[in-house]
Amino acid sequence: MSFGFACFPEDGSDAEKLTHAADVAVYYSKRNGRNRVSWIGEVPASVKLEFAGLEDKIAPTEEPPTEKDPAPPPTAESSDKLPGSTDPGSPPSLEQQIQLGLERNEFEVYYQPQVSLRDGEIVGVEALVRWRHPERGLVMPGEFVPLAEQTRLICQLDLWVLEEACRQVQIWNLDRPANHPLMLSVNLSARNLEEERLPETIAQALAKTRLNPHWLQLELTETVFAEISEANIHLLQRLKELGLGLAIDDFGTGFAGMNYLRFFPVDTLKIARSFVQSLDASPKSKAIVESIIGLGRNLKLAIVAEGVEDGKEVACLNAWGCKLIQGYYFARPMPRAEFEALIKPGLQNSSNSIPALKKKPIELAQFQVS
Ligand code: C2E
Ligand code: MG
Ligand code: MG
Repeated sequence: MSFGFACFPEDGSDAEKLTHAADVAVYYSKRNGRNRVSWIGEVPASVKLEFAGLEDKIAPTEEPPTEKDPAPPPTAESSDKLPGSTDPGSPPSLEQQIQLGLERNEFEVYYQPQVSLRDGEIVGVEALVRWRHPERGLVMPGEFVPLAEQTRLICQLDLWVLEEACRQVQIWNLDRPANHPLMLSVNLSARNLEEERLPETIAQALAKTRLNPHWLQLELTETVFAEISEANIHLLQRLKELGLGLAIDDFGTGFAGMNYLRFFPVDTLKIARSFVQSLDASPKSKAIVESIIGLGRNLKLAIVAEGVEDGKEVACLNAWGCKLIQGYYFARPMPRAEFEALIKPGLQNSSNSIPALKKKPIELAQFQVS
């Protein structure tokens, strides 16, 4: 059974408008796997458009197309379409494909190490989502995260990534000394902050996977702080009370000012790749990166430089006091099994597809830092 509801007068000023709104909500419940109740206020605009397209073709109470009666498989062309294929016989829109991908377990977590420059050890890992699409192969987040954000599917996706990565890192940490756990970083879209129950949801994921909250860090982009509401501030505080860490991703690129650093319980700044990769060519980037590292030191925040691709960048960052590095210089994001081989005791120095990490910092001496 699928239910939908709408409230007077917010969702419709007369009986006709209200019934219509409730019909759309019923449709949304059906599209979301049925057996649920939806409120019109949570229905994405793209679904409303979709419903409008179907309305004069089918009766609202009719069930929408199901997997038993599949639409033609999506083509590469159709996959690029942005939301809402309005014709029920046409290939699913990208939004519908993401929803199906979630139901069919087509998403995977890739892992990219974060390395300490002190000793070349992998001390942390960032979980990055990938979509193993049945026709298109491996799809990168840049192609689907923006739409998933528009349609709020990102909340479901982020929670799935969080649980999957927490479960995995907990297993890896069982084989490591208790005082030397692998720290997990997970990206959290700003859309999640609209969910008042986010702290409870994350607490449940932590309890379910048994990961120590102190081993988890949530990465938020700076844009979150550009237009932060009081409700968001309260929510972030409740998240921190769980014991987890908060990182600002792509620090320096979000037009957020810096005032929030005075009030927010932030733990880590991640220096944006765009600054790191222009270190060589731009004296201004050099000055910015050096300043961010100094800012982090003075505020007692951890600093991670991301997008580090060559030894020269490593040398500069090391000389300026940045001790945590993430980037292709050490390793690209990789599937679970590959990452596992990399961190298994005894394997870190052996030759595998990734260069022996421990040798890397020793090479620092070859680079002159000006
Ligand atoms: P991010 O969180 O800033 O992640 C770092 C991105 O830089 C990753 O791209 C990573 O593969 C890439 N990268 C790391 N080192 C290097 C390097 O040395 N050179 C270059 N050229 N790139 C490097 P990816 O995996 O394509 O992810 C892109 C963005 O998509 C992420 O940026 C994040 O904003 C978003 N994203 C990824 N996974 C998730 C997720 O599970 N949830 C949410 N909400 N967003 C995600
Ligand atoms: Mg990130
Ligand atoms: Mg980043």
